[in-house]
Amino acid sequence: MTIFEKIIAREIPARIVHETDEFIAFHDVNPQAPVHVLIVPKRVIPRLAESAPSDAELLGRMLVASREVAQKLGVVESGYRMVINSGRDGGETVPHLHMHLLGGRHMTWPPG
Ligand code: 5GP
Repeated sequence: MTIFEKIIAREIPARIVHETDEFIAFHDVNPQAPVHVLIVPKRVIPRLAESAPSDAELLGRMLVASREVAQKLGVVESGYRMVINSGRDGGETVPHLHMHLLGGRHMTWPPG
């Protein structure tokens, strides 16, 4: 069981900002920007590289829901970045697919 499943099961605490039947959004414990929230599906998909066509609607709804999360956190106007790290070179550290929502400062490109 990953740390995210424990958060979903309320076995460990997290600062939850949004939740539906399908996914949960909570503040990252080690924020890389003034706003740094993780949007995590309740159904475990280990990583983007292991997603299936049957995951497409769920992942699409999560992307669209980022707007609502960004609105709640006051960054919808100023802008925000969505990031998915998949696999070793992608920088993934928790093997439970999640989207990072980063905002509250100007993002540079390319990412590190
Ligand atoms: P990844 O590197 O896999 O894309 O992102 C994993 C993220 O999970 C990291 O940004 C890390 O700070 C965050 N994280 C790891 N453990 C915890 C935790 O226990 N609680 C919260 N809220 N975030 C965590």
